Amino acid sequence: MKVYDVIVVGGGIIGTSSAYHLARRGHKVLVMDQVDIPNPQGSSDDHARVFKLTHGKDSFYTGLAAQTAPLWKALQQDSRAELFVQHGMLELVMDAGKYEKDCIKVLQDLKLPFQKLKPAEICERYRMLKKTGFKWGLYHSGGGMVFAKKAIEMFAQGVVKAGGKLEAGVRIVKIQKDKSGVVTGLKDSKGKVWKAGNYVFASGAWSKDVLSDFGIPFSMTKQECLYLRPPRNQGRYRPAHFPVMSLHKYGFHAFPVHIHGFMKVGSHKKGTLSRKAVTPLTPDKKFEKASRGFLRKFCSDLADFTDMEGRVYYYTRTPDEDFVLDKLPGLSNAWAAAAFAGNGPMFAPLIGKTISEMVSGEKPETNLHRFRIGRLKLSKKK
Ligand SMILES: Cc1cc2nc3c(=O)[nH]c(=O)nc-3n(C[C@H](O)[C@H](O)[C@H](O)COP(=O)(O)OP(=O)(O)OC[C@H]3O[C@@H](n4cnc5c(N)ncnc54)[C@H](O)[C@@H]3O)c2cc1C
Repeated sequence: MKVYDVIVVGGGIIGTSSAYHLARRGHKVLVMDQVDIPNPQGSSDDHARVFKLTHGKDSFYTGLAAQTAPLWKALQQDSRAELFVQHGMLELVMDAGKYEKDCIKVLQDLKLPFQKLKPAEICERYRMLKKTGFKWGLYHSGGGMVFAKKAIEMFAQGVVKAGGKLEAGVRIVKIQKDKSGVVTGLKDSKGKVWKAGNYVFASGAWSKDVLSDFGIPFSMTKQECLYLRPPRNQGRYRPAHFPVMSLHKYGFHAFPVHIHGFMKVGSHKKGTLSRKAVTPLTPDKKFEKASRGFLRKFCSDLADFTDMEGRVYYYTRTPDEDFVLDKLPGLSNAWAAAAFAGNGPMFAPLIGKTISEMVSGEKPETNLHRFRIGRLKLSKKK
């Protein structure tokens, strides 16, 4: 018997945002996760994630980010929860600055505000930064951070409020379908079959397993981050005084103090490949050393931190690094939303809204050509 209109597999930020937007359109939704919602081992289960308008010369993603910011603001207003802090992002440039110059060109073309700042101007604004080590900086006031874990909780509450349901501890192992390409149910690891009219797979780093029938070339890399408590002058590092800061050349980014006095340092540099998502993991000592090196160079006050906590999560990627947001090949009632690499949370409301449009049979407002599964070389079924 079908009790639900839609089953969403995966209670990360993409699954819950999709479920929330579906529920707001009147669909009766069930969200299930193999662990919990939020899942402490999922990629979304972190307090803060970067929200940025700058994506190098890729104006498509800058345009998407500009479309997503008002959605975050509306969600924040509706839920009265702090989900989005748009207090600016500073990108320090220490080489020829090709990436940052490309970002400027796109920001200019799209008429988005930015400032090109000299070291003295940067240090006047952010007195904790050292004047040496970088040549100039790109500041965009539209950047900031999203509170990913809080957003998952808000989306999940919204689903329940709209009459939907959350199921934790259910691992889907098989997609059952008939000859005409209609998914008829999902079998879990205990043998129970779950039925709905439509199905959405937002299974993050586990997508390779759960969608193994389709041969989509997903890969996973381990990405590390460290929470650290500033050893001194903690107040200086709160969002009112400290931007989200990044150093594209080395992939590092730093967040202001945002949770129990902790700030965060992370790296977007491509991590080591992993065949399977195995959790939990702890960061390598080498990462701690590199993080201290980054801070010593630009923000020496922070480099001798002792109070810290490390986390490792996965980026799920495709060979061209674009997302997968499409109907599954050969199926008429199942969609995949995966491979968001280092960008899922920042775009989460837009992705959730888009999934809800597709499942409702509407033409999505967002142009999805970059996210089609048909662009990828699928491996043959074994
Ligand atoms: C260190 C690091 C830093 C990052 N920084 C940023 C950033 O600054 N800005 C940004 O926007 N993004 C960032 N990202 C990327 C972002 O975290 C991911 O893109 C995003 O969290 C992916 O969300 P998701 O919902 O697809 O996956 P997840 O959050 O992993 O959720 C997938 C869920 O599906 C469940 N699931 C999987 N298979 C099954 C199954 N068979 N049955 C039931 N449940 C299942 C899992 O248990 C999991 O909870 C970062 C990622 C990492 C690792």
